[in-house]
Amino acid sequence: MTGPGAPSSGRGLPIEGTVVVVGASLAGWRCVETLRSEGFEGTISLVGEERHLPYDRPPLSKQVLAGTWPPEKAVLADKRRSSELRVHEVLGRRAVGLDVAGRSVALDDGTTLVADGIVIATGATPRRLPGTEALTERDGLFTLRTLDDALALRAAVTASEAARVVVIGAGFIGAEVASTCAALGCRVTVLEALDIPLRTVLGPMLGEHCASLHGAHGVELRTSVAVQGVRRAGGRRGLVVDLAGGEVLEADAVVVGIGVVPCVGWLEESGLTLENGVVCDDRLFAADGVAAAGDVARWLWRHPDGEELIRIEHWQVAAEAGVAAGRALLAGRADAAPFSPVPYFWSDQFGIRFQVLGNPRGDDEVQLVDGSLEEGKFVAVFGRAGRLRAVMAIGRPRQLMGFRPLLQAGASWVEALAHAAGS
Ligand SMILES: Cc1cc2nc3c(=O)[nH]c(=O)nc-3n(C[C@H](O)[C@H](O)[C@H](O)COP(=O)(O)OP(=O)(O)OC[C@H]3O[C@@H](n4cnc5c(N)ncnc54)[C@H](O)[C@@H]3O)c2cc1C
Repeated sequence: MTGPGAPSSGRGLPIEGTVVVVGASLAGWRCVETLRSEGFEGTISLVGEERHLPYDRPPLSKQVLAGTWPPEKAVLADKRRSSELRVHEVLGRRAVGLDVAGRSVALDDGTTLVADGIVIATGATPRRLPGTEALTERDGLFTLRTLDDALALRAAVTASEAARVVVIGAGFIGAEVASTCAALGCRVTVLEALDIPLRTVLGPMLGEHCASLHGAHGVELRTSVAVQGVRRAGGRRGLVVDLAGGEVLEADAVVVGIGVVPCVGWLEESGLTLENGVVCDDRLFAADGVAAAGDVARWLWRHPDGEELIRIEHWQVAAEAGVAAGRALLAGRADAAPFSPVPYFWSDQFGIRFQVLGNPRGDDEVQLVDGSLEEGKFVAVFGRAGRLRAVMAIGRPRQLMGFRPLLQAGASWVEALAHAAGS
């Protein structure tokens, strides 16, 4: 017996069964592809709030905002591919509830989709700046998550010569937006609450290096800044940003890049554990027959040095989790493989690509093992409690990837330094 109400057997999906994937983006799409490539013959419904078929987000702050790529180039799945994979597209529809016992998803048009397996891949949404709820893109206030956001932001920052852009937050998205807008000829100011951007992720030395790139490319970076609020400029076009101490900055566009929150609102009544994401076991199951993947999932990550609940907001992990969730549903909870990736992310800013393997933290010990900051090309290793935790590189992709097996195996700090010395 399968389907709603079926006893939890731990066995996988029936090959002719039904899957509902909620969230039509990277993780959801990779899951759909995997189900088909692994032989699933049943019905797959792909539910997405956006009207678009799945597309890639990394180009939004880079090529799409710059105007060097048409939006179509960011597509992950076109109509032809979707129909080849026999996907039942439910786009422009929002999931509003999940009944775990009944294995069903309620949609905002009052309909319900019943399934043998459900994948939660609803990603994350930008955190809003408190007090700015009444302001919209039309006023010049932006966040950047969707293709529509990117196109609207591009229209605003290219509407006038040397538009004044204020970016709030010097994290990866904020820095990429600043970099792209500066290249478009905008006058860009970045406001950062921390004393050193990215210090909580990369530590002070590499954070300082990132900070130096802004100034070197004509962007004004202001650190330890407290933003009090953003308001309309009163009669004039644009916005005013109020800083602590009374200073005001005028802007044609304000971009808020202060992080994201997982999209779990629709799951509040589901009974699933929601704590900074959908809490899952080590195989990405949130409940029998219900898996989660991508930016929304907080799963039990087992690594060589232990285990931790972790949620990662990067492309590669979301893509791999989509694949893993598809396989996990097919295998069933008891037989699925643990999801234990070596995390990877990159960021392109100011003509430079940062690449990071592992899970760096701002309080890790950091040592340069190749190149130098002055040269702008280097490899840095991150250690914690005697073990290698992460590696960051600029301009050294091959050397970076050489550390992958060490991270996979849980190499010690001493082994990592020896590897660096020998490579
Ligand atoms: C501008 C930008 C640049 C980036 N650049 C990089 C980069 O350079 N390197 C890197 O490693 N990572 C980058 N990332 C991160 C990467 O894109 C994400 O990790 C990835 O998109 C996560 O995929 P996902 O499928 O989990 O979630 P998402 O891509 O967030 O997709 C979730 C989808 O679910 C939909 N949804 C939400 N709620 C519901 C609901 N209730 N019902 C139906 N649908 C719903 C959303 O509308 C969305 O389409 C970037 C992200 C952004 C926004």
